[in-house]
Amino acid sequence: MNYEENQAFMRALEVANSFYKEGDFPVPIKSMINDDENVTLLTFSEFSRLAGVSRSKVSQIGQSDEAFHFKKGKRSFIVYNSLKSVSRQRFTLAHEYGHIKLNHVGKSLYDRDKLIGSYSKEEFEADTFASCLLFPLHKRYEYRNKSSYEIANKFSISFSAVSVCMRILDWHLESGLENYLSHYEHRKHDSYINFLRECSF
Ligand SMILES: [Zn+2]
Repeated sequence: MNYEENQAFMRALEVANSFYKEGDFPVPIKSMINDDENVTLLTFSEFSRLAGVSRSKVSQIGQSDEAFHFKKGKRSFIVYNSLKSVSRQRFTLAHEYGHIKLNHVGKSLYDRDKLIGSYSKEEFEADTFASCLLFPLHKRYEYRNKSSYEIANKFSISFSAVSVCMRILDWHLESGLENYLSHYEHRKHDSYINFLRECSF
């Protein structure tokens, strides 16, 4: 990661971490979003009924077959395809929720053409938010010797998400994570994040 990517990673990580609850796995992403009074969660079918368009039009409007979000006044909406696999849905929902919580401006339903330049950084941040929310960093360390199957099951994420997450762990291990953690209580979730806060890669 270069400096800018690292900044983006840290920003998304800190926001995801603010949602951390001990022992709450798999993270109840749907109820988390439903409990957020500023966000409305709709399936493609619900959106099609409300907007008065056919269901097949919904993915065209949102430019995604998986999910999209938009803002209307102060309220944010996440519209998702409930026919996708559960692990896929969970990551996508966390990703869209990340866009909202990180105050991203791109990929809005109404002005998506204006802000193409900021797109990829925002996508990177939303993906980082989603993976750090669903599979927190210190849990990756705790589960480092478990099988992908066990991890995917425990956190209800896809195998490809597991492998992306574990690659980041490997990179942090190479950067001296283990040495740092051995000086602190390593189950405590703050010490991993503190390592990154103190580290200048
Ligand atoms: Zn996105």
